Amino acid sequence: MNSKLGETKRTNAKKLATKLENSQLIGGRFAPSQSGATLPVSDPARGEKVGVIPSSDAQDIACAVSAAADAATSWRKTTPRERGRLLRLCGDILRQHVEPIAELITLETGKALRTESRPEALNVAEVFDFYSGLGGELKGETIPVASEMLTLTIREPLGVVGAIIPWNVPVMLMAHKIAPALLAGNTIIVKPSEEASLSVLRAAQLFNEVLPPGVLNIVCGSGPVAGAALVANESVRKISFTGSTATGRLIAAKAGERLITTTMELGGKSPMIIAHDAELERAVDGIIGGMRFTRQGQSCSAASRVFIHESIFTRARELVVSKLARLKIGDPFDEETDIGSIISTTQHRKVCSYIEEAKSDPHLEVIEIGQLPQTPELSRGLFTRPTLVFGASNNSRLAQEEIFGPVCLITPFDDLEAVIKTANETSYGLAAYLWTKDISKALYFADRIEAGFVQVNQNIVFRAGTPYGGFKDSGFGKEACLETVLGDYMRIKTVMVGIA
Ligand code: NDP
Repeated sequence: MNSKLGETKRTNAKKLATKLENSQLIGGRFAPSQSGATLPVSDPARGEKVGVIPSSDAQDIACAVSAAADAATSWRKTTPRERGRLLRLCGDILRQHVEPIAELITLETGKALRTESRPEALNVAEVFDFYSGLGGELKGETIPVASEMLTLTIREPLGVVGAIIPWNVPVMLMAHKIAPALLAGNTIIVKPSEEASLSVLRAAQLFNEVLPPGVLNIVCGSGPVAGAALVANESVRKISFTGSTATGRLIAAKAGERLITTTMELGGKSPMIIAHDAELERAVDGIIGGMRFTRQGQSCSAASRVFIHESIFTRARELVVSKLARLKIGDPFDEETDIGSIISTTQHRKVCSYIEEAKSDPHLEVIEIGQLPQTPELSRGLFTRPTLVFGASNNSRLAQEEIFGPVCLITPFDDLEAVIKTANETSYGLAAYLWTKDISKALYFADRIEAGFVQVNQNIVFRAGTPYGGFKDSGFGKEACLETVLGDYMRIKTVMVGIA
């Protein structure tokens, strides 16, 4: 019954992929790239091609920048409240298309529909709701410098901005770029990942019914070509980037040469500490949720280094293994599936190589949990079992590098202060988690941990209204808050008027 329904949903998504075939949004119109070049889109759970997207280059980027610059004058004049009203309509229209968007996300990313793609699509409208209400907050100040002078500050948009996003939560991350940028009065060009452009294009098609032409543009293509051209285009006044630290470094350096600002939402290797007084069952669910096993660990804030107090270690370990064993790995469209496939062959190879490295180390214990799907249609799918690694040292490659797969390192500890020090011994600083019943421990942890997003006794993904962003190699700038609009997408002009 469920797999039949899943098949219908997959067919629906493929039809939508066909309708979106080889087109991108520039100046309010959907069209192929100027060169006609394309890139294939595949369904990673079946290893089959399901569509094509334009493979754009600097010419297409220039065209999109020009459309965005043309639209900028009147968009900037549109009042912030009116811009907010249009953003609310974007959220409303998206709410009516949650299921088809979710199906498209599943088709191109392999993420399970029930546990991942549908919740992602459901939460996107909230981002637009949040920003839509902030139009009245784009205020300046008056400054009492001298009685014969009125000094005031005015906030104004930057102009044309570029956004580059990854594939793991494509529509959600797109929303976190376009809503604040547009509310601030900028126009925008989004370069989605070539692995997950279709769902972004479908969402943009819906927003295009509401927004004036050229205000939102989507240009598809590879990172090193289309993405790099966006960063290099001299009319682009800001780049907001979400992706790996390596790519972020490259983009920030290029943007630095042009003296334009960037927002960098980068990778992570986040610690989760389970104190001896934690509520054990909830904490174990927290390990599984925090590691984002249902997203195959493909999350920047994945709790991939877990430290459990030695007094509860054995029991916690048994519980993690038994709970993980109940998760079903399989067809991402099937409502019974908890865990779908990894995004791409490259990523799958990378994740498997870390697992093989762990297995070949005699000092480590590696447990791979669950059953890989056995059906013939999924035989070429990029599935991996949740993998727990015990005994890894914190300075090993496994503990220091972002694997971005379902590989979780679990280590016992006996002293909270020492384990916080170990937790901080990483180049990253995105998220951190603690499970405890002791409020003083929680506050001590929040004070000492070097991470931009700290949670105690919970492990939710960030939501609109909760400032989100990392420290150290996890980047800079905050998303999902008013400061994003004011600090990242606007500039301040100081005006002094002599009144004597
Ligand atoms: P990448 O850094 O490989 O790619 C991210 C985006 O950058 C893609 O659109 C990619 O295009 C583009 N890109 C690649 N090279 C260049 C370049 N030279 N110039 C301009 N653009 C380029 O990351 P992944 O897509 O693999 O995403 C996973 C990473 O994203 C992880 O490190 C994860 O932690 C991070 N991430 C961070 C989040 C945060 O909020 N901090 C949230 C989600 C993910 P293409 O793919 O088409 O080549």
